[in-house]
Amino acid sequence: KAHKLFKPEDTIVNVNGKKIGGGNIAVIAGPCSVESREQIIDIAVKVKESGAAMLRGGAFKPRTSPYSFQGLREEGLELLLEAKKVTGLPIVTEIMSAHHIDIFEENVDVIQIGARNMQNFELLKAVGKTSKPILLKRGLSSSVEELIMSAEYIMAEGNNDVILCERGIRTFETYTRNTLDLSAIPVIKRLSHLPVIVDPSHATGHYWMVEALAKAAIAVGADGLIIEVHNDPENALCDGPQSLKPEKFKHLMDSVRQIASIE
Ligand code: PEP
Ligand code: MN
Repeated sequence: KAHKLFKPEDTIVNVNGKKIGGGNIAVIAGPCSVESREQIIDIAVKVKESGAAMLRGGAFKPRTSPYSFQGLREEGLELLLEAKKVTGLPIVTEIMSAHHIDIFEENVDVIQIGARNMQNFELLKAVGKTSKPILLKRGLSSSVEELIMSAEYIMAEGNNDVILCERGIRTFETYTRNTLDLSAIPVIKRLSHLPVIVDPSHATGHYWMVEALAKAAIAVGADGLIIEVHNDPENALCDGPQSLKPEKFKHLMDSVRQIASIE
């Protein structure tokens, strides 16, 4: 059960030895999308050097327009595995369809459910039957209660390794891509024992806001961060404007370490 009433102690999710939750803070970093072998390996090596615990990278992308880059799909998963071979970093990537459960279960270390699928209940049930930790992102217009009920769908199938993620919600403000709901972190901590991380990249849409909100997220009690990093943001196929260059990511990690120790 996701609620604290049923389990007072914090859940610690262990991803190939990297812990998240219960006082263990971990940072996941990497590009929005896997674009090429050179790109993903270069970024993976650099985020590892700065202390990232895991590598993110989309292979199947949930784009608003069907004419936008849709991801390298199966080839993207293979390139993530190559980057894992080089760096040892566990890989985190988004699943969009229950048709892909088998290849994800076999190849991926953390299966991400994106904001747009937070209430895709059949997909939640399907990932609940896998043995892999699930990163569950809050829906664009979902309440904290709804997020926790979606975690419950996964846990009801027997998978208790769920990491929640606050990634910004829709408000009337248009300056930022979304509005980061930092108050969700203490609310989730009060209601649930599950670890919760923050995604300041999708929350803001602007690279120059990411470090400030990453620090704020850790200060309010987040168990980790997921940060978009790209080696050539100007030419990124997806989410370049919110992506940090590797040097800026290193700066972020150094300043977050001033307030908390990172796994
Ligand atoms: C992502 O992490 O690349 C992503 C698409 O995020 P979200 O589902 O939060 O929009
Ligand atoms: Mn993205």
